[in-house]
Amino acid sequence: MQNDVVYLDHAATTPLDERVLEAMLPHLGRAPNGSPRGNPSSLHAPGVFAREAIEDARASVAQLVGADDSGEILFTAGGTESDNLAVLGLAAADPDKKHVVISAVEHPAVREAAGRLGAAGYEVTSIGVDADGLVSPAELAGALHSDTVLAAVMWANNEVGAVQPIEEIAAICYEAGVPLHVDAVQAAGRLPIDVSRIPVSTLALSAHKLYGPQGVGALYVRGGVDLEPVLFGGGQEKGLRSGTENVAGIAGFGEAARLAFEELEERTRHEEALRETLISGVTGIPGVRLNGHREKRLSSNVHVSVEGVEAESLVLFLDALGCAVGSGSACASSTAGHKASPVLLAMSRTPEEAISSIRITVGKDTTQEEVTSFLDSCATAIAQLRELSPLYTGKS
Ligand code: PMP
Repeated sequence: MQNDVVYLDHAATTPLDERVLEAMLPHLGRAPNGSPRGNPSSLHAPGVFAREAIEDARASVAQLVGADDSGEILFTAGGTESDNLAVLGLAAADPDKKHVVISAVEHPAVREAAGRLGAAGYEVTSIGVDADGLVSPAELAGALHSDTVLAAVMWANNEVGAVQPIEEIAAICYEAGVPLHVDAVQAAGRLPIDVSRIPVSTLALSAHKLYGPQGVGALYVRGGVDLEPVLFGGGQEKGLRSGTENVAGIAGFGEAARLAFEELEERTRHEEALRETLISGVTGIPGVRLNGHREKRLSSNVHVSVEGVEAESLVLFLDALGCAVGSGSACASSTAGHKASPVLLAMSRTPEEAISSIRITVGKDTTQEEVTSFLDSCATAIAQLRELSPLYTGKS
């Protein structure tokens, strides 16, 4: 891979912050006092060193989401596990209720977990979205009933960046006495999150979306909320997530969360300026249409359908020009082949529009120069691909 890649795929994963790496090294065999690595459950000094790192990280993650008690944060192996634990664990905790409500634009980690419940006999209601990708709180309210064991609505969408009215949705679920799970994997570090004000029951986070390491995440579980584990073993993380903790990963997540909390406003402002340059540049190309709400969208996200161009060809063409962007949702694209994104279909886009969509996501270290250079490459790539396409009718 070239060294000078213009990396615009921060929704897929973010670069590891140097400061985060520094926080991880003492737990990867570089303890300043020469201490060997310990198991955080051990009582001796190396164990205590590891335990303290985990508890410091727990406090930083709690602060990022506004949790009063750091004991409400459980560490997991990532956003997927957090989502699975919430959906399956909330359902198992109240086995008499057999109805689940999710939005149509959930990440597969929620959608597929709800699908497992469906296969086990639960009724699963999927709430649609409008053309901008937004859930209607009224429609959600209408779907809840006395048999509803949980609702799941993501804070911000990983493909089109749409930011849902979570405050309103949480209030509705709270009133109805239905636990709400919120996937905040894309929102954390980009939007202020305050669970002390918003009555969510569980909330999923992933470190690698906020400049932390891959393979580590967290689930916020409000005190008093009943949750059954999905992993069984040594009883770590209050019995809700057995398995020796990923100490270095968790220490890195803690530092990433601390920095995200401190730098949130600055990062968001920086990203928004880049996003605006990108939106005006890219939608200035004929036949390019923005997907997702114009304002209610993540600071980092630009998602467009490009008429007459197939997304994967565009991504590969741009890659050859040194620019990394996503085709639809990177989480799915290696397995999905040419399948149209369910998120775009739920937004009433045609299958043709859906398979012609790319996601361009900036980050805290992206520069205006990179954006300008990307826009040049993008115009070139689109023009050349259209020239080759027998289907494109708008040739000059
Ligand atoms: N939810 C959302 C909204 C995501 O964007 C992702 C990552 N693509 C996940 C869940 C899964 O997180 P992880 O990659 O840490 O398993």
